[in-house]
Amino acid sequence: MKNKDGLWKLSPSGLHQYNECKACFWLQNHHRKAPMFPLLLNSAMDSILKHRYDTYRATGEFPPEATELAKEGIRPFEDLETLEAWRSKSSALQVVDETVGYVLSGKIDDVLVEADGRLIPADYKSSGNPPGEDKQKYYRDQLAAYGLMFTKHGYEVSDRAYLLHYFVSDKTNPSIAVEFKGHVDRVDIGAIDIETKLADMVKLLNGPYPGAMMECETCEYQEGRANALK
Ligand SMILES: [Zn+2]
Repeated sequence: MKNKDGLWKLSPSGLHQYNECKACFWLQNHHRKAPMFPLLLNSAMDSILKHRYDTYRATGEFPPEATELAKEGIRPFEDLETLEAWRSKSSALQVVDETVGYVLSGKIDDVLVEADGRLIPADYKSSGNPPGEDKQKYYRDQLAAYGLMFTKHGYEVSDRAYLLHYFVSDKTNPSIAVEFKGHVDRVDIGAIDIETKLADMVKLLNGPYPGAMMECETCEYQEGRANALK
């Protein structure tokens, strides 16, 4: 949707849709989102992970499942007050580009720091299953967008970001104290020209509906529904 100033409201987590299907991306941004139940289990897990990382952050360390970050010379972002603002207010790291015509805003889960002080965006991902090989492609633009937000707010940014995956370790274990496994996943964001990509997105949104995409299941579903109602 556009805001009252006529700028497209984009969020880091919504950008992957542009790669998957331009028609769905256009529709999602031109219409209000369909009402959806909040994913409470997912946000509970995010909250648990924030507390987990913050507990270790207090001593400049990472949880045991993420110690390979320390081996890479990375340390946790120590300014918890600033991090809390970035976590809780989607406008805290907002980027407004009136020339191109968008406002990019969104919350971030966590921030890591390179030995030389550059910031590394990080996002917690919890799931029932271990992350698949191709999982990164959904999140690369999201992480690059956080990088752009930091840059625009005057921070130096690393060319890498991290996905901190947590998944159920044994689904046949009947205990309700569910055990999770952690997996640290490095994502290279240095080569992504996210500003150009955002400009391409705005160009698409300013144009007419591109039409349903042949290979998109959501488009196929929408078309089928429209035909059924005729
Ligand atoms: Zn589609």
